[in-house]
Amino acid sequence: MDLGIAGRWALVCGASKGLGYGCASALAAEGVHLLINARGAVPLEQAARQLRAAGAQWASAAGQDDPKVVAIACDITTPEGREAVWAAGGGPGRDFDIVLTNAGGPPMGDFRGFTADDWQRAVNANMLTPIELIKAVLDGMAARGYGRILNITSSAVKAPIDILALSNGARSGLTGFIAGLARSEIAAHGVTVNNLLPGKFDTDRLNATFEGAAQKTGKPLQDIRRSQAAQIPARRFGTPAEFGALCAFLCSPQAGYINGQNLLLDGGLYPGTF
Ligand code: NAD
Repeated sequence: MDLGIAGRWALVCGASKGLGYGCASALAAEGVHLLINARGAVPLEQAARQLRAAGAQWASAAGQDDPKVVAIACDITTPEGREAVWAAGGGPGRDFDIVLTNAGGPPMGDFRGFTADDWQRAVNANMLTPIELIKAVLDGMAARGYGRILNITSSAVKAPIDILALSNGARSGLTGFIAGLARSEIAAHGVTVNNLLPGKFDTDRLNATFEGAAQKTGKPLQDIRRSQAAQIPARRFGTPAEFGALCAFLCSPQAGYINGQNLLLDGGLYPGTF
């Protein structure tokens, strides 16, 4: 299916690897211009090279110019980081048609061990930063009559996990805000706002969780991976490419009637009917 988003500009945060990279990659394969962001310059530039190659492949098949890929290494959770992104901008007038908010997840642990500063960092990264990004682009999207905002949150919003107190709390705050925003006047101007809720996806973040569990329990890492995968009805972890495919579809005009949703991608792990 041609998603009809070639030539649009997307800001994809946390895109040097993992789910953010999966989304950037799926958009590059549709001919979307990208501004990608992550903290480390070297892995980000490496990701940019791969995305340029994916864009070039699209361009040669479509007989079009290569889509642009701009890489800005910065911490998106800081005002300076966001300024760096806006200064680099998207297309003319710094217009982004698509924004994917994403940053590292907060640390795990018993909530008794978290300080007010830990909570403030989690709320800043996983709630306030997406809101600041959205604030900067939303009215422009509505004025131009097209916009797609996607936030990577977590299955923990739907089925909270005790050791993820910071994530459960901060992301639920964002989810409540998005629920109201998506149903505001912007919906009549071609702008949709949705959340993507990953279950267990095979990324460095997931592996770090398993390595922590291996150290804590003394069990071999492979055993932990196997037993975790066995609990998922699909009997495997998701891939960043699968995650990116949904992201790209939601960015398309075909997905224009999907708004204000929390889309769970978890291989059937969540046990409820809805
Ligand atoms: P990852 O560690 O593989 O990749 C994270 C990406 O974000 C990297 O590119 C990293 O450089 C970038 N990043 C982190 N902090 C940043 C910051 N402050 N500014 C700019 N870039 C930053 O992680 P992932 O698995 O792709 O996870 C992405 C998000 O999804 C995280 O918030 C994570 O908690 C959440 N999540 C992931 C899973 C999973 O199974 N992988 C499950 C639930 C939720």
